[in-house]
Amino acid sequence: MLDRPVALVTGASRGIGRGIALGLAASGHAVGVNYFRSAEAADQVVEQIRQQGGTAVALGGDVGSAEDRQELLDRVGTEFGRLDVLVNNAGITSQGRKDLLEATDASWERVFATNLKGPFFLAQQAARRMIAAIDAGQIPGGLIVNISSISAYAVSTNRADYCMAKAAMGMMTQLFATRLAEHGIRVFEVCPGVIASDMTAPVKEKYDRLIAEGLSPIRRWGTPEDIARAVVALTSDAFPFTTGERINVDGGFHIRTL
Ligand code: NAP
Repeated sequence: MLDRPVALVTGASRGIGRGIALGLAASGHAVGVNYFRSAEAADQVVEQIRQQGGTAVALGGDVGSAEDRQELLDRVGTEFGRLDVLVNNAGITSQGRKDLLEATDASWERVFATNLKGPFFLAQQAARRMIAAIDAGQIPGGLIVNISSISAYAVSTNRADYCMAKAAMGMMTQLFATRLAEHGIRVFEVCPGVIASDMTAPVKEKYDRLIAEGLSPIRRWGTPEDIARAVVALTSDAFPFTTGERINVDGGFHIRTL
């Protein structure tokens, strides 16, 4: 069993997940770098971590598939012998960004499988393993971080499935926080604002304009590193009496103004 904490980050081949994997590695975690389609990009993340003296392994798998989730956690067990931190980051946007009145069954199925069902059952299965390890005195405690979105409460009528899945992730965070507290596992929701990544690249001009017009009090794009720093802070010993909290990393977007 590894003598340092181990983190599994889903969707860590690109964007925010990549940033979180690099941040956790830099703060002393061995990291499982999950990817779905971008194997080469995941290998590059692993290579970068290793070059900086860290430990990482690329782990393929679709978080929407029960079989893949099982295999993912099994591989973390074989590679590292423990799991201290799960970051449910993998996510996709609404397919085709269609208006509410044109929204499709196919997009719903894919978005909910990836953005909600996957994170829920990964949290469930990871928690079971963490509890066993905590009870056996192998790890001091556990942490689950769910990467949701400002779309959990801000309406986009062309991304209904995405918004609803992210809103449900807020409740999911509170459910697991409540159930797992007695076992020494804390659970948080990190809520990114507009972050520069492949996901937002197709709507870059729209967001450039909105940010310039004051979409958030801090007038800039967020970066994967902004999210990574929040996640790393949660792994520190700074919040021992806090769980179930939503951490907004959004330049102040959530503040209502008159
Ligand atoms: P991104 O650049 O599109 O990257 C998405 C990542 O998720 C990729 O690594 C991708 O892996 C992985 N992924 C997609 N489907 C997967 C699946 N079924 N199983 C495993 N991995 C899968 O997106 P991002 O902007 O970094 O977003 C990351 C998270 O932050 C998402 O949950 C998103 O909803 C949330 N978020 C983003 C923003 C934003 O402004 N960008 C704002 C709020 C919240 P492969 O490439 O290997 O397939």
